[in-house]
Amino acid sequence: MTSSFSLPENLFKHLEEGAHLRRCGYRGRFAPSPTGVLHLGNLRTALVSWLKARLANGAWLLRMDDLDSHRNRTGAIESIKNDLLWLGLSWDGPVVLQSKRKALYHSLLAVLRKQGKLYPCRCSRRFLSMHPVERGRKFIYPGTCKNLHAFWGIKDGKLPSWRLHVNENFSHLTGDLVLRRADGFISYHLATVLDELTLGINEVVRGADLASVIHEQLAIFDAIGQHACAKYLHVPLMTDENGLKLSKRDNSTGLKRFYSEGIKAPKVLGLLAESINLVPKGAEITTSELLSDLRGKEEKLDGLFSNT
Ligand code: GLU
Repeated sequence: MTSSFSLPENLFKHLEEGAHLRRCGYRGRFAPSPTGVLHLGNLRTALVSWLKARLANGAWLLRMDDLDSHRNRTGAIESIKNDLLWLGLSWDGPVVLQSKRKALYHSLLAVLRKQGKLYPCRCSRRFLSMHPVERGRKFIYPGTCKNLHAFWGIKDGKLPSWRLHVNENFSHLTGDLVLRRADGFISYHLATVLDELTLGINEVVRGADLASVIHEQLAIFDAIGQHACAKYLHVPLMTDENGLKLSKRDNSTGLKRFYSEGIKAPKVLGLLAESINLVPKGAEITTSELLSDLRGKEEKLDGLFSNT
C-alpha cells in the first residue's frame, strides 16, 4: 500500500507521460555524476546497462546527475560522452541534465511541503555526527526536529533543510530523509525517483555501491503515493589490483592510458567483458558483436547482479 497523496496537474501530466513510455517497452538509463572521468568500473556498469537495454530492443538514456554543482568537474560531461561513444555505447535522445529539471523537482517539493509531508530541520552535520552509529549500519536521523514548530525562515543566519516524514514502514530503515539541503541543493534521492518516474524508466542497472540506497528511494516512491516503477539491478564494483574501489577522481583508472597508448576500443571492451565472463580471456570485440553473441543467451547477464 502506498500513502495517499494528491498531485497537482503539471506533475500528474509528467507522471502520466512516464507511465506511457514505460508501457511502450524497456527503458533503462545510465546516470553518472559528472564529478570526474569515468573509470573502468563505471564503464563496465554502463556496458551491462546498455546490453540489457539493447537485448530487450529498448531505449537507453544518458542522464547527468549534475545537481551538486560543487562536485561537478569542468569537462566531465564531455569526457563521459566521448568515452561512452568511443566504446560504442550510444544512448537514445538528448542527454538529460538534472540541472535543467530543477523546476520539476521544486514543484514536487512544494506540494510535499504544502501537504505537511516535510518539516524544517536545523540539525548541523556536527550535531548529527555525534550520534553513535553501529558499525556497518547506516545513520538513521533521530527525529530531533520532527515535532518542533515548523519555522521555515532564516534562524541564526541559516535556512533549514527539509526532511520528509517517511511512512512508518520505512522509519527504521531510513529515518526521515533530507529532500532539500540547507544550502538549497535538491537531494539525489528525490531527483532520481522523480526522474525514473517521469522519464519512463522501468529498469535501473547501476553499481553495487548504490544497492544500500534502495530503501531511501522506495520511501520516496511511497511518500508520493507511487509504486516503485523500475526493477533495480546492481552490478558488482570493479576493484584495482590491491582490491581497492576505483575512484572517478583518480584519472589513471579511466580510458586515458588506453588512448595514449593507442589501444583500440575492441581491446578495452574485451577487457571489460572478460572481467564479467562474457568473453574468453584476451578477446577483442565490438559492442555490436557482443550484442549478437548474447542474443538468445540473455541469462548470461543475470548471474551478475547482486540482488535481482
Ligand atoms: N549519479 C549516481 C552516481 O554516479 C548514480 C545514480 C544512479 O544510478 O541511481 O553515483
